[in-house]
Amino acid sequence: MNAVDLPPIALGPPPATDRPAADCPAPARPAAEAGQGPAATGIDLTVLYRGPLASCDYDCPYCPFAKRRDSTEQLRADRAALERFTGWAASRTGDRLSLLFTPWGEGLVRSWYRRALTELSHLPHIRRVAIQTNLGGRTAWTAEADLDTLALWCTYHPGQTPFERFVAKSRRLAAEGVRHSVGVVGLPEHLDAARRLRTELPEQVYLWINAAEGHQYTDAEAAEWAAVDPLFSWSRHAHPSAGRPCRTGESVISVDGDGTVRRCHFVREELGNLYDGSYRAALRPRTCPSQVCDCHIGYVHLETLPLYDVFAGGVLERIPAGW
Ligand code: SF4
Ligand code: SF4
Repeated sequence: MNAVDLPPIALGPPPATDRPAADCPAPARPAAEAGQGPAATGIDLTVLYRGPLASCDYDCPYCPFAKRRDSTEQLRADRAALERFTGWAASRTGDRLSLLFTPWGEGLVRSWYRRALTELSHLPHIRRVAIQTNLGGRTAWTAEADLDTLALWCTYHPGQTPFERFVAKSRRLAAEGVRHSVGVVGLPEHLDAARRLRTELPEQVYLWINAAEGHQYTDAEAAEWAAVDPLFSWSRHAHPSAGRPCRTGESVISVDGDGTVRRCHFVREELGNLYDGSYRAALRPRTCPSQVCDCHIGYVHLETLPLYDVFAGGVLERIPAGW
């Protein structure tokens, strides 16, 4: 047992010591609902959560978190922050929540992430609960989750895990009805592995390709990646976003371990705090202050793109409609 594996998460209202507290979300209702407990009138809200966890068992050459370790103290802090967030989500029974955990490092090797996903998946007001993972850890825990609500965003990192082991895990998940996508970073040296994945993954598992950061693709190269992922064109270029309406800050928010709410992971301006309810009054239609948006978890929410239709029912876990 891990030193920081503590008793199960208690789902319910945040502790008294706390400050007072999708796929296709509808417009948020602001000010009137600020405050504690279930809202008088609920809203559809998509929440991306990223706590302090920053450690990973993998060693990807393109990642700053490769082989980083969190101290026991840092892990305790991450667990406490996650439990606080989970308690908040469980208490918002008047809202309809879609949740995506986007840890800096790998969350599913920690029991508190597995437990949070499992327990939240059973709550009727949670429409989706998903996490980004390298799929390196055990998957047996998914048997305890509500598979209508749970989803996994899985990334294959060539060289970090045996190909056959990764494919076997995806096949097992598919056979057990665990909704998941699989993806690869579109580096030239990954092309063969991506092609092989497309051949060997179950047909119903969507394989996405993320354009590699700072990499320009010729049309011929883009065509090679598009043969693996027919939606690669959405990732190939960063999307001009300045002044364009984006659902973040209205029906989508990003939350960190302290409960600080921002519109997305990429815009630093703070909208308030989750646990004192102050974020709620800030929810309103907004345009993007950045020049471009180049990450799926951001540009998927741009209202000028049709991606809520393309990924209808699977926006958070990156699964196209009808896949
Ligand atoms: S699996 Fe993800 S978090 Fe871990 S080193 Fe690779 S890219 Fe970074
Ligand atoms: S377009 Fe991207 S960067 Fe701009 S507000 Fe939306 S998610 Fe954030």
